[in-house]
Parts: sequence; structure tokens; C-alpha cells
Amino acid sequence: MLKPGATIGILGGGQLGRMLALAAARLSLNCHVYSPEKDSCAFQVVRHHTCASYDDASALRRFAEAVDVVTYEFENVPAKTAAFLQRRKPVLPDPKVLETTQDRLIEKDFLRDLKIATAPYAPVHSATQLNDGIVKVGLPTVLKTRQFGYDGKGQAKIDKGTDPIAAWRTVQNAPSILEGFIDFEREVSVIAARARDGSVQCFDVTENDHRDHILKTSKVPARIPPALAAEARRIATRIAKAFDYVGVLAVEMFVVRSGKTRRVLVNEIAPRVHNSGHWTIDGATASQFEQHIRAIAGWPLAQPLRLGRVEMTNLIGSEIDDAPRWLTVPGAAVHIYGKGAARPRRKMGHVTRVWPGR
Ligand code: AMP
Repeated sequence: MLKPGATIGILGGGQLGRMLALAAARLSLNCHVYSPEKDSCAFQVVRHHTCASYDDASALRRFAEAVDVVTYEFENVPAKTAAFLQRRKPVLPDPKVLETTQDRLIEKDFLRDLKIATAPYAPVHSATQLNDGIVKVGLPTVLKTRQFGYDGKGQAKIDKGTDPIAAWRTVQNAPSILEGFIDFEREVSVIAARARDGSVQCFDVTENDHRDHILKTSKVPARIPPALAAEARRIATRIAKAFDYVGVLAVEMFVVRSGKTRRVLVNEIAPRVHNSGHWTIDGATASQFEQHIRAIAGWPLAQPLRLGRVEMTNLIGSEIDDAPRWLTVPGAAVHIYGKGAARPRRKMGHVTRVWPGR
């Protein structure tokens, strides 16, 4: 169990690292951020940072010496970096989780073994396999690279009349997975925290709307029946247990409806705090960031209460120019990440509104 004043090392210097460090500070824990990018916005809120590449052995060694535990704010931490640090300090969540979540095919197989429903899928490593996959999965379908895809990158939809070879070119012949294209009713996510003692706390299910494959708004509670919400939380809990996970993870799901029955299919697992959990900073008595810090510090998890109906809106690219207006909206909690240029598709900040009541 970390003592107040201990130091947490965070790999990655984006807004997630920044908000983790702010939550840690509230609990008297310090953070040391490690990132290769010199304008990392998490650097601004911590006393110590290291700006070096993830394969800089001497920088990593010094970082490991300066911290008591290491965590990460992004899922593409190189396996070698994680292993190097693990030989020196505890790394939480255990990086073996990354072997599963960094690869869409391994992740889907992991879910299948847990008997958790997903979209139908097939591995695709060649143009021939792509045609076999289309027969197996059916149309429409979406081809995704197994690794390094996010916010819709490395994805191509294939429908009747689409040339599959064009999709195969879009993913640049990279090892891929073909997924049935789900005609979902809505998208939801569950943010779950698991402590070192195995206890789990899930936040209320969040309903997410994407624009151009990027999260635009999260609303809580999700408009789904209570039994389905309970099922979604059970699924996230099972995943966290199966990984023997310590920290916060997010599980993205599709809600599908056939007749009067609805069920959830898991789309993706994020082994980290997640954009769809940002509402918890202003909309709950403890945030996802605080839960993550508590978990990796070996502290008890909070049992957060939601403060009302909550809506979180991302400020993407030039939408950050609306921040002055948001600052004057009654009840709006404005978060500005302190990033440099407001490039298109870049997450620059977010706004949370809470309406007290259920
Ligand atoms: P991903 O990169 O897998 O998180 O996908 C980003 C977004 O693309 C999801 O949040 C969905 O809106 C959409 N999407 C991804 N996979 C599928 C699918 N199999 N069926 C329908 N929509 C999908």
C-alpha cells in the first residue's frame, strides 16, 4: 500500500495522464510522467517528468528509480518497455493484459473463451482469407487491422457492391480481422475499477455517441433497461476478474435489439481510464481517475455515487474555441487540456453538465 507522498510513474503524457495526476494530487500522491513528446499536456501538472523515448534504457532506469509504482494511460505501451520496468518496479495493471488488448483478434478470442458475446468475426491475413471471411461473417462487414487502430483508423467497411480488395488496400495488407457490421440501437460502455484485493466497483452504464468514429457525447444513465445495465456491469466485472486486473478498464459495447429483447455485444476493451468515463469527475463523488489511482496504490476503492443525470461533450479540434462561451453556461464544468494546436480530430477539452436527480 503506497503511503501519502509516494510517487506514481505514468507512461504517456496526454489528457488521461494529466487527469490521473490531478486525481492523485487530491489524495497526496505525486506523479512522474514519462512521455517522448515534449509538449505533453500532462507535464504541466506534475513536478517531475521525463521526456525520452520508450526504448531509452537509461531514462527508463532513472524513471523506475524515482517512482514507487508504474501505470500507463495508453494501451500501446511497447512490450519491451513494460518488461524492462517490471523488472524494477510493480507495473499495474499487469502488462500481460496488453498482449490481449493490443490485438483485436486475441481480444475477440479471449472474449469468446469467456463466453461473452461479440460481433461475428474472422481473421484475415490475405486477400483469399478475406473472401472466405466475408462468406463466414456475411455483409455488411468491417475490416479492421489487428493492431494500432483507433478512432476509426485502419478500418474499412465492406458492403454489397464494394470491392473487398479496395478494403484490403485500405488496411495496407496488415494482419486484420473481419467483423460483422452491427446494426446497433445504441453504444454503451462500462468503466470498472478492480482493487488489489479483488473487489470491483463499476460506474453506471454510459451511453456514447460518436461522430466520425470519435466520441462526441456521453450520457448517463444510458437509456437501457435496468436488467441489461446489470448484465453490462457483470460482463465488465468478469473481464476484470479474468485478467486479475488492478486499476480501471473500460468495456465498449453495442446494444442490439431483436423484437422486444435487447442484448449487449462487446466491441472493445480499453485497459485504462477512458474518455467515456470523464463524466465521473464532475458527475460522481469519486472519478474513474481517482479509482485508478486508489487501485494501483493498494488503497480501498471508493463507492461512488452519481450526482444526477450527466452529459459530457468532447471539445474536438477547433471546438475548443467555444470554451469561452462554455465558461458562462450555468452549471457547466469546463476542462481544457492545455494542448498546443487545435488540429482536426484532436481532443482538446470537454464539458460536463449535471442535472441533479436520477
Ligand atoms: P473501434 O475502433 O472498434 O472502437 O470502432 C469505432 C467505432 O466504429 C465504434 O464505436 C462504432 O461506432 C463503429 N464500429 C466499430 N465496429 C463496428 C461494428 N462491428 N459494427 C458497427 N459499428 C462498428
